[in-house]
Amino acid sequence: MSVFEQTYEEAKANYKPLRRSQISRRNAVVPQRKTDAEDRSDRQLNASHGFLARKPAMNKRGARTKAWDAARAWLHRQFRLKGILTCQIRFPGCWFDREVYFAHPAKRRNLREGELYVVAKACNPCHDQLEIMAPERMRSIVEAAFNNTGIVRKQI
Ligand SMILES: [Zn+2]
Repeated sequence: MSVFEQTYEEAKANYKPLRRSQISRRNAVVPQRKTDAEDRSDRQLNASHGFLARKPAMNKRGARTKAWDAARAWLHRQFRLKGILTCQIRFPGCWFDREVYFAHPAKRRNLREGELYVVAKACNPCHDQLEIMAPERMRSIVEAAFNNTGIVRKQI
């Protein structure tokens, strides 16, 4: 007596494929050989994104990125309305109107509730100098610059 309840031959004779698999087998499409162009494009895709990768290379934008995008759009408009287009910080070596971006009162991870809407316009060198300062000094300078704009702080 075998450890198996039936021999392979018996099992094969008794085998009844499930209806679903019968249907799918009847409709099965024999895979066609890829054309050279398809083969080339698949190779290129795999080379650039890894085998079977179908995800975009970059992650989707997270909630924090979206929040800052919305805040930045609002702030750009407010600063434009107030006519503030140049660096507000004016440290020695200031670039004045070149590479002017928004500076926050703290590094992003240390921002307090609602501070996403408190910014100053700062050129690249001024921004760099702000970032190496003591945190409370950086905060007081950016807050003072923001208060100078006359923009009403947006409550969120
Ligand atoms: Zn500057």
